Amino acid sequence: VIRPVILLFGIVAPVLTALLFRTHLFAALAILLVSHLLLLYPTLTPLSQWWGRVVTHFETPNREVWLTIDDGPDAAHTRKILDLLDRFSAKATFFVIGERLQRFPQLGRDITERGHTIANHTLTHPSGSFWCLPPSEIARQIDGCAEAIAEAGGRAESYFRTPAGLKNWFVHPALRRRGLTLIGWSARGFDTVETDPAKVASRIAKSARPGSIVLLHEGHRVDSAPEFSLRCIELTLQALAERGYSFVIPAPQQLRP
Ligand SMILES: [Zn+2]
Repeated sequence: VIRPVILLFGIVAPVLTALLFRTHLFAALAILLVSHLLLLYPTLTPLSQWWGRVVTHFETPNREVWLTIDDGPDAAHTRKILDLLDRFSAKATFFVIGERLQRFPQLGRDITERGHTIANHTLTHPSGSFWCLPPSEIARQIDGCAEAIAEAGGRAESYFRTPAGLKNWFVHPALRRRGLTLIGWSARGFDTVETDPAKVASRIAKSARPGSIVLLHEGHRVDSAPEFSLRCIELTLQALAERGYSFVIPAPQQLRP
């Protein structure tokens, strides 16, 4: 219900501002400011539900979490990650970037053949601009990734994650038309900015609960620190396993906002 209210106010606010501009300057500017803030808050706050449902955890009676690994596949990392996951009897979902998968389609097949799943993380991962893309470009990003997954012989789960978690008011309608669910997270270690894998793992371990969605990345710092993503994933698996967690892919009906 909050979505149409904000959008309507976004349309009415400039009109009110124009009407009040000569007589009540500050009130006019305040109205405009508030409407902008109301449009920006759910757009720039990854787990905000104002534009539509964002899954942040799953319902489970067991001590288990859902590992999600973003931004692959990656020639240097993906196969080693698959070996790591096997070592911990872990199942995970890979949110892949379409154009990377086009470069390494075999990695997509490896992921699914070894019991994991693939999901949509856009065609080119425009992390700086996704929040302000128009509907046509959002559609191209979603459909381009879906096509890349299909070309690689994979079957995409009906899940989507936006670059950096940002989403404007065009994203949910585009997802609804395609039967896609927007997936957020509950535990992350900031492995795209943190440089110490141990800190990444301990942050995740501290915030993890049964039913948490754990956010990790691959393919970052391939040149400067080729082992970085692997260490983050390994230490996270270790820390969570020590706390008695297992690593599963939840069923769609377990997912919760
Ligand atoms: Zn990403």
